[in-house]
Amino acid sequence: MNSAAPDDRVVSVAVAAPLFRLFDYRLPAGIRPACGSRVRVPFGRGQRIGFLVPRPARAEPHDGELKQVLEVIDDEPLFDARLFQLLRWSADYYRHPPGEVFESALPVRLRRRLAAPEPARTWRLAAPIDDVLRALPANATRQRLAARALAAAGDVPVEAAELRQAAGDCAEALRRLADRGLVKCASPEPAPARDGPTLNQHQQAAVERIDDACAAFACFLVRGVTGSGKTEVYLQCARRAIERGRQVLVLVPEIALTPQLVGRFRERLGRPVAVMHSGLPDGERQRAWLNASRGTADVILGTRSAVFAPLRRPGLIIVDEEHDASFKQQEGFRYHARDVAIKRASLENVPVVLGSATPSLESFDNARRGRYHLLELPERAGASGLPDVRLVDTGKWPLTDGLSAPLVGAIARRIERGEQSLIFINRRGFAPVVMCGQCQWQAHCERCDALLTLHRREGMMRCHHCGLTRAAVDACPACGSDDIFFAGVGTQRVEQALARRFPAARILRIDRDTSAARGALESQLDKVRAGEVDILVGTQLLSKGHDFPGITLVGVIGADQGMYSVDFRAPERLFQLVTQVGGRAGRADKPGLVLMQTRFLDHPCMDAIRRHDFDAFAEAELAARRTLSMPPFGCLALVRAESAAADTALAFLRLVRDRAMASKAGEDVEVMDPVPAPMERRAGRFRAQLLVQSRRRPPLRRLLTAVVGAIEAEPVSRRVRWSVDVDPVDLY
Ligand code: ADP
Ligand code: ZN
Ligand code: ZN
Repeated sequence: MNSAAPDDRVVSVAVAAPLFRLFDYRLPAGIRPACGSRVRVPFGRGQRIGFLVPRPARAEPHDGELKQVLEVIDDEPLFDARLFQLLRWSADYYRHPPGEVFESALPVRLRRRLAAPEPARTWRLAAPIDDVLRALPANATRQRLAARALAAAGDVPVEAAELRQAAGDCAEALRRLADRGLVKCASPEPAPARDGPTLNQHQQAAVERIDDACAAFACFLVRGVTGSGKTEVYLQCARRAIERGRQVLVLVPEIALTPQLVGRFRERLGRPVAVMHSGLPDGERQRAWLNASRGTADVILGTRSAVFAPLRRPGLIIVDEEHDASFKQQEGFRYHARDVAIKRASLENVPVVLGSATPSLESFDNARRGRYHLLELPERAGASGLPDVRLVDTGKWPLTDGLSAPLVGAIARRIERGEQSLIFINRRGFAPVVMCGQCQWQAHCERCDALLTLHRREGMMRCHHCGLTRAAVDACPACGSDDIFFAGVGTQRVEQALARRFPAARILRIDRDTSAARGALESQLDKVRAGEVDILVGTQLLSKGHDFPGITLVGVIGADQGMYSVDFRAPERLFQLVTQVGGRAGRADKPGLVLMQTRFLDHPCMDAIRRHDFDAFAEAELAARRTLSMPPFGCLALVRAESAAADTALAFLRLVRDRAMASKAGEDVEVMDPVPAPMERRAGRFRAQLLVQSRRRPPLRRLLTAVVGAIEAEPVSRRVRWSVDVDPVDLY
């Protein structure tokens, strides 16, 4: 086999498709695109977009059969070298097809081979022209030209296109000048930064520590109870980074939180903030992406996916509520944005700040071992104390529609005093079980191993797993009896029970059903803040980031659900949840009370929650996890498979297991038996999973690499949908 094409004309391409392997192509003569550039290549019977990646060192030489790259789309790659490195690391770490990883980091419009458009921006000098010229090296001819042209325009901001006549194409020169801080993008007009409150000593110390580390990678964990002023710390650190000419990337868990935080950052820093989350229209996402990429935005604030935002001059990364499970993508490319953020900070050589009132045990353990710097904010900034947490023994107090007498009594007292109550229950709908009193029939989803939840308001029964909807029934479809009853409690039921008990009270329910419309949640929350609501009934939606100073009572219903869970993280979630909801309530003059209904009065987790004792909780949980080699004491990966036929997924995972056992890479790794998923059938497909566990990470990674490569080559892998979940946050 003679190699007809010289090897340097052969390139490896990560095709934007669910395939791990790379494909080789021949480059047309005369071009030498950089890694990361998009190319169009023939693929199968059609064409695909792909990304140039470095050729593996052990790549085999080719004969002349290789197909040719049809088009090189980018002159300059859309990712800079470090972001490209981050994406490759992520694809490798999370064992996801690289082409899909690159593609997912681009706004939709750029995925479809469009070239990046130049938005019309206007520029002005940031300093007197003489200073600008003095600051420029002598050989920066184009930048000098562009600066003079800007000066000639006087103090009026001009577009790059307007300078074309005087100075030619200035776009790149202006960008470089901006990087040096010598010109400013004049739209939107930067406003003066506004001073926040004077920091207390803990906040001040935290800011100084973080700022001292500004020149290199370091990871900080800011632990501070809700309202301790973590956001003020972020703002001060961001301000300093921006003053040094750097960009700040801020990650938050929820879209619902972004408007408030964006407002606070914009107002206080007086700088453009690029917002990135999945709820934005394509055009806006693309604009934010470009503003981040070109450095016209000083702050990039977004949810999970913003961790892959292009940054022209990164200086600081902040991950707010770092414990939040929504940082983990739960389908497709299953990355954890917090962990990617830490990796990114190390590649960019900048500090990263994780913040939480209830750190994940992984982060807490890292801080304990000195891998992260722990910064504590032990006091509430606004002077109000932590809420009083009391447990209501549901063994002693029977529940009616989910409510105990002590809780109802406490609500009544709040109404008398003109204060607000929040009843938290993590289940929407009226009741999760619809059944017949005569024959034991239950309303099942036809497509999942799950029961339908009654949504009485809408006269519907719904599957919360696949979205299937059926009309509510008055009579049993099996025996015709009208003895239909509803077991369990959801938000609608609690709302109805409270309306009966407190007919004069103004009750508002907030869950995904009431807040589906854009802006609905915000206007509902405004009503609560304006005091137009006496009792608020809601789900998880309310647990994050929203402050309710008028609420002095929080009732927690159904917390025990977590205690029955098979998930080893359930106690951690419960601790986080109660701390978060409780922490939103109350003010200095009216401290909050949290009543938690539970059967598990003596459970150490409940006791720690009651005493706000995160350290005791963390010690106990970490000890338990150590004995089980669960994270952070061991590493997990879950191979998931689903298929249309009942046994295919399981059979596939048995093959995966066999391959893993046969592999030499399997040392020090425990490969469990494949099992059906806890909910085996979902949306009509059968699901199974295989857990892989190791005390150390390198053997786990080696094994996954070996097995994934081998499995992709097996024909059976095409008959199932399968994926690897590294560091899963849900074990089902
Ligand atoms: P967290 O992010 O920890 O929940 P925030 O930074 O949002 O806390 O602060 C909670 C409230 O306390 C905000 O209204 C904030 O303006 C105020 N606050 C924060 N730090 C101080 C301070 N040093 N002095 C006075 N008020 C403060
Ligand atoms: Zn029946
Ligand atoms: Zn279903």
